[in-house]
Amino acid sequence: MYFSCARKLYYSCRGHEQFHSFSPSYIEHLVLKEVAMQYSELLKVSSSKDDVLSTDFDSMLLQVVDDLSIIYPDEVSGFTPEKMDEIAENVRSYLPEIQENLSEQIEYPEISGIADLISSSDNEPYLQSEKLNITGVPYRLLSIDGSFIPVMIKTSKAPENGVWNNDRLHVTSFVMLAEETHGIPIKSGLVIYAKSGHFRKLNIHSNDRRQVLKAIGRARKIKDGKMPDKNESALCESCEFSEMCNVKASLVSKLL
Ligand code: SF4
Repeated sequence: MYFSCARKLYYSCRGHEQFHSFSPSYIEHLVLKEVAMQYSELLKVSSSKDDVLSTDFDSMLLQVVDDLSIIYPDEVSGFTPEKMDEIAENVRSYLPEIQENLSEQIEYPEISGIADLISSSDNEPYLQSEKLNITGVPYRLLSIDGSFIPVMIKTSKAPENGVWNNDRLHVTSFVMLAEETHGIPIKSGLVIYAKSGHFRKLNIHSNDRRQVLKAIGRARKIKDGKMPDKNESALCESCEFSEMCNVKASLVSKLL
């Protein structure tokens, strides 16, 4: 949560979750997350670029939207079928790009191998570190060549190369957690970008670990009551705290 927005952490530590309502962009985020969970299976059962390009992504999306009310009954309960259709239509507009990018990645043996491993595991491991006093649940923790690779799904588009900096730190925190749990050094992680269909593997450096330690220190201060500055981003649109956050921001600006 700290890596997505420090203020979100502040509000949630103060028990504000009960006030949230679910916005269409939040539901879109859930749809994208569920869609991304299909990518590995799709790469596993496809043997060529053409196989991916001929897959019926529309049906896949319809199935995901159908299942959403079973997986997230509370979140979806306030949405009419018409509203859900609108959300599905939005996600449908990303499908050609997703399909194209997935079809290109099937040519990379490393990505295909990782997709195989992801699709044959259904475990979201709970990781806990006593040393760092943090916990986390990556989407998957893959066992490869005597080590591990934590995998997470982000519902944004991938940057042109590599991963976004916050995602790098987020996956580094999973690496540090998994290292303590399994007692071996872990050198890499993987981010799946739902909106663009990219699988991005990254190597973890000492500086990433240092940044995570700093972030943990800052997160502790926030939990103790220090309100961080508002950091406007695309996330604000679908944020359950946006009303509260905007009120606070405008009160502060009035006082100034
Ligand atoms: S509205 Fe934006 S800045 Fe405020 S808590 Fe939500 S994501 Fe963070």
